[in-house]
Amino acid sequence: MSDTPLTPPAALPAGLHPQTLAVRQAQPRSQWGEHCEALYMTSSFIQPDCATAAQRFSDPDLGYTYSRTGNPTVTSFEERLAALEGTECAVATSTGMSAILLVALTMLKAGDHIVASQSMFGSTMKLLGGEMARFGIETSFVPQTDVATWQAAIRPNTRLLFAETPTNPLMDLCDIQALADVAHKHGALLAVDNSFATPILQRPAEFGADLIVHSGTKFLDGQGRVMIGAVCGRRDPVEKVMATFLRSGGLNAAPYNAWTAMKGLETLALRVKAQSAAALELAAWLEQHPKVARVYYPGLTSHPQHELAMRQQSGLGGAVLAFDVQAPAQEANILRQRAFHVIDSTRVCSITANLGDVKTTIVHPASTSHGRLTEEQRQAAGVGQGLVRVSVGLEHLDDLKADLLRGLDSLS
Ligand SMILES: *Cc1c(COP(=O)(O)O)cnc(C)c1O
Repeated sequence: MSDTPLTPPAALPAGLHPQTLAVRQAQPRSQWGEHCEALYMTSSFIQPDCATAAQRFSDPDLGYTYSRTGNPTVTSFEERLAALEGTECAVATSTGMSAILLVALTMLKAGDHIVASQSMFGSTMKLLGGEMARFGIETSFVPQTDVATWQAAIRPNTRLLFAETPTNPLMDLCDIQALADVAHKHGALLAVDNSFATPILQRPAEFGADLIVHSGTKFLDGQGRVMIGAVCGRRDPVEKVMATFLRSGGLNAAPYNAWTAMKGLETLALRVKAQSAAALELAAWLEQHPKVARVYYPGLTSHPQHELAMRQQSGLGGAVLAFDVQAPAQEANILRQRAFHVIDSTRVCSITANLGDVKTTIVHPASTSHGRLTEEQRQAAGVGQGLVRVSVGLEHLDDLKADLLRGLDSLS
């Protein structure tokens, strides 16, 4: 076997479409010419000589030395995700939460203020509203959909607006363009958590968002295998500030996880479109069922922000929907019992709070993802005891309908 020298792949032509970039962007090949991307599962890199080592240690962009400061597999994932988001660059992190932590620790300092939605992912609320307070960073939480209250919450020391759209589990949107305008008018940055919509539905940078955060654990992997996160945006601050901090702080993604998520990106468009189409059909069908009181899905005209969703999310509602079970009385324990019955009667869906998977998941938000909230906080978030959330996967729709009917039809 001859050890032929590494030939760099020919540069891709300009102007390729996202589908092409998802499978072709960032594919460095070793001397063996592997077709599938190699997984560089190594903690460190051998240096050809001391002089080169010295150069690379002083400037990580000159070559790989140690996987906390850079790894080719992680770089490939970053470049592919940035191509899909339409941003100059991206940095990969160990989880979605470490991506949000990275934003907070690099973009803010003691005395700064954040305005954020009051209905974000639970750990994001705890991190920004709780943990960050110890470091002198204060967060005001405002209603998701009302731009005027975001504007009213701005203070002279507001440095960051943090939004997540659509939100879990009620699929409320915020108008990214409007929030970007508010942020920029006050010299603040807008960060958008794009884990739910993915760049297939919405590219927040096109609406003026400065930083795009991902939990790649959800749709990007899409098959429930790894945890990973990312921040996408302009070179300054993402590469200049965040990548430097990430190297010192050790928030980096593991090569195996980056490789798995990168392979996930190759089928992201197909999955998200197919799962969104199935979710729309399921949502419309649930809306007609007598045991369903209300369906929350942006793809339906009954959703209060349907028009914004169609404009902002490429005409698609996404793969996640929620519904309230109908009950003879609006009492918490009756509602909960009925929601539990519908969920526990499923045999195909997985009862788990994870989402974005090719396997359909079903969950009772009020006792799981939103279980630690007080009853008042839950009411404010609109998460009732009768609410069921479904993240629609790739199973045949008839099988999913039958799975939900088992519980719905046997409700009194
Ligand atoms: C899951 C999730 C996160 C956190 O991501 P992890 O990978 O679990 O750390 C952040 N934001 C949203 C919207 C999520 O769904």
